[in-house]
Amino acid sequence: MSTLEIRDLHVSVETKEGAKSILRGVDLTVSSGQTHAIMGPNGSGKSTLAYSLAGHPKYTITSGSVTLDGADVLAMSVDERARAGMFLAMQYPVEVPGVSVSNFLRTAKTAIDGQAPALRHWVKDVRTAMEQLRMDPAFADRNVNEGFSGGEKKRHEILQMELLKPRIAILDETDSGLDVDALRIVSEGVNRVKAGGDVGVLLITHYTRILRYIEPDFVHVFVDGRIAEEGGPELAERLEAEGYDRFLATSA
Ligand code: ADP
Ligand code: MG
Ligand code: MG
Repeated sequence: MSTLEIRDLHVSVETKEGAKSILRGVDLTVSSGQTHAIMGPNGSGKSTLAYSLAGHPKYTITSGSVTLDGADVLAMSVDERARAGMFLAMQYPVEVPGVSVSNFLRTAKTAIDGQAPALRHWVKDVRTAMEQLRMDPAFADRNVNEGFSGGEKKRHEILQMELLKPRIAILDETDSGLDVDALRIVSEGVNRVKAGGDVGVLLITHYTRILRYIEPDFVHVFVDGRIAEEGGPELAERLEAEGYDRFLATSA
């Protein structure tokens, strides 16, 4: 059982005009076995939250705390966060030139577990996970994210998640740019990870569509750098019907 605790998090980003404050007091607790959806309009700071949890150097934590089972996440390097069991799938995954998918996965697995995976099991696990995500085996020899389509990038992220078995997974707009079939395949992957282990999922999305496939226990509406409203799955249904207008009208 793991718990990620975000307390009164304030974050600013460096811009040409100086530091711009984006997150303005985020409170959120995600425990293993739970799925939390963060929804909100464009520009509300959802990706900034993901980048801040990932330890992206551009984002400065000005106050607040983030802990994983009591350990100070903000004091950890990016690698240490991964070893502690945090997995982050970014909205815009980066290319890793010259590194194949299969090498990348094996290196990441070795770094996180502290030892190389037993080769026979590993090869089988990778093959099974790729089959389930309907990925061509040849994909394993391609360089990470180089020339990947939007859908391939997202499948690759879920492939990582399935193989690395995180304690807390943060998925930023894993649904964006996917057609209905790809969305279903990617969602099934997330649901397999949820069913197979004690993972806490933080699902960041602008649209309610993915929530038909991955059922959230809690829904948080993000507006203007903080959580404006919280509820259960019914809140997502309400947002689907009403959009974000009522939040934007009051936040102006
Ligand atoms: P969302 O993911 O909800 O669409 P973001 O976190 O991407 O929102 O952005 C929140 C706000 O912060 C936006 O106004 C965006 O322009 C600004 N912002 C985020 N990252 C940067 C950056 N690196 N430089 C300048 N502004 C940024
Ligand atoms: Mg956005
Ligand atoms: Mg975003």
